[in-house]
Amino acid sequence: MIKTDVCIIGAGPSGASTSLTLSKMKIPHYIIDKSTFPRNKTCGDGLILYAYKALRLIDEGLFDKFLNHPKFIHSKNIKLHVNNNVDINFKESKDRNMVITYAKRFDFDDFLVKNISDKYASFDFGNGVKNITELKDGVLIKLKDGKEVLSKIVIGADGVNSIVSRKLAGNKLQKNLTSTFVNGYFKNVTNLSKTNEAEIRIIYKKIPLFFYIFPLSDGSVNISLGGNAKLILKHNINLIEQVESIIKNHPKVAYKFTNAIKIDSWRGWSIPYNFGKNKVYGNRFMLVGDAAGLTNPFYKEGVGTGMMSGIICAKSIEASLKNNDYSEDFLSTYSKNLKSEFGRLLKFSRLMLKATEFKFLFGSITYLLKNRIQTKATKIIKRKSY
Ligand SMILES: Cc1cc2nc3c(=O)[nH]c(=O)nc-3n(C[C@H](O)[C@H](O)[C@H](O)COP(=O)(O)OP(=O)(O)OC[C@H]3O[C@@H](n4cnc5c(N)ncnc54)[C@H](O)[C@@H]3O)c2cc1C
Repeated sequence: MIKTDVCIIGAGPSGASTSLTLSKMKIPHYIIDKSTFPRNKTCGDGLILYAYKALRLIDEGLFDKFLNHPKFIHSKNIKLHVNNNVDINFKESKDRNMVITYAKRFDFDDFLVKNISDKYASFDFGNGVKNITELKDGVLIKLKDGKEVLSKIVIGADGVNSIVSRKLAGNKLQKNLTSTFVNGYFKNVTNLSKTNEAEIRIIYKKIPLFFYIFPLSDGSVNISLGGNAKLILKHNINLIEQVESIIKNHPKVAYKFTNAIKIDSWRGWSIPYNFGKNKVYGNRFMLVGDAAGLTNPFYKEGVGTGMMSGIICAKSIEASLKNNDYSEDFLSTYSKNLKSEFGRLLKFSRLMLKATEFKFLFGSITYLLKNRIQTKATKIIKRKSY
């Protein structure tokens, strides 16, 4: 049996950021992922706000490497189109470089993992966790290859279907606080903005659906469409039919796809935004990223929030090891720190998402308050970004 102080399950952006921060603190740990890297992950591939902040907090050198990575492209513009009537621009100020970066998760997650120190981290990739049980002297983690790991504390960084969340926290997926999305890559998409602007549309089809077009460094584009999981089920919405109809018929979209070729098949996945409604810590465990339901409900930032939660979590791990205290009571500070970082923004974003369900009202508010929304957004970008 392998014995360790800390075991991180999942090496996506949240787990990798926890590991990178622990390494910076010189804390040895074990990190497991069922995949080997590089691997694909269903995502829009857009990095914003917290991704920049987290990279800089982890290491300025890592941020520099990210800025100069040949496969990542940066843009100063995001445009949100509300039902064809209102366009809202989210721009960086002239003295700053970017508001969004496009990086395929295949490359970005690998970039993070490659920068994890092998001095402090022991890697076990391509080996899924089959079971987890809390024992008196630690958490016992059983892996697919039969290996067993006993850890004083375990970090659930294993995404939306987290085994740590289910087994140790007893959480269940809350469909009303989850989005369902489909996503695919296309080439030969034309008439895209010269500034690599991110195109985001709220399109009404019985329910509000969010449609994203993000350009990538290899000339392909990433297309995503989705909405609230419960409403999609209730209204029997077929997301693949809807997205194919949008790129074929939507007056502001279809002309870009006249000669487009789909590179791979559509993939579906869930985006959880139930932070505050589920348990994110307990005796000997903490959850980060999607496992903690930390995606932004409105604009779906999950990579950056996940990375930031990994940094916050590493600080709690350090305190726990120092005090030799892994109790639920001691780890409650983690939840308080998450709330103070994300609480207000995620609550506000959940309200905004709810407001989109009222098509006329939401359209009128965004029309009337367009300038105020843009000014407020610029302030948020400055505060939560780099
Ligand atoms: C269609 C779509 C579009 C999105 N677009 C964006 C976007 O543009 N920008 C953005 O910021 N966010 C976006 N998101 C959200 C984002 O993808 C997630 O929030 C983000 O991946 C969360 O990172 P994570 O590290 O917490 O989890 P994940 O990235 O899911 O990583 C979890 C890791 O755990 C591993 N794992 C899982 N189970 C086990 C197990 N039992 N044993 C061992 N390992 C395990 C997995 O292999 C994986 O590597 C999108 C999501 C979807 C579905």
